[in-house]
Amino acid sequence: MPANAIATPVTPDLLPQFTQLLNDQRAALLAQIRQQRGGDISRADAAANARSVAQGDWAQNDAERDLAVTLEERELDELNQISTALQAIADGSYGSCVTCGADVGVARLKANPVALRCMACQTQLEQAHGQVHAPTL
Ligand SMILES: [Zn+2]
Repeated sequence: MPANAIATPVTPDLLPQFTQLLNDQRAALLAQIRQQRGGDISRADAAANARSVAQGDWAQNDAERDLAVTLEERELDELNQISTALQAIADGSYGSCVTCGADVGVARLKANPVALRCMACQTQLEQAHGQVHAPTL
């Protein structure tokens, strides 16, 4: 095993399992979006509700639109990550770090199936970007 000895490479027999995880994750996300935006509840209303829950108050101003946009961007971002991971499974690159090519590692991918980078590269990236979008990847 190469220098990064902790990472167990993804073998082809594991791919159906990760495909399932990613499909489940996408289904859950879509259900959540539908729930937030279902019926005649607009995105702004959903954002308002989210903020009311969080802060017990809601101001009708530009922040409302900003939050609606933020929610949408984060959800779209997550859906994009899932699509990217499913595409990687399809083209055989799943489990390889997009930055250095090392194994991302089975344990890391089970915890976060959309991870695109090995721990070392991800840590470096987060430090470089001030951890703005910390949790995933
Ligand atoms: Zn890497």
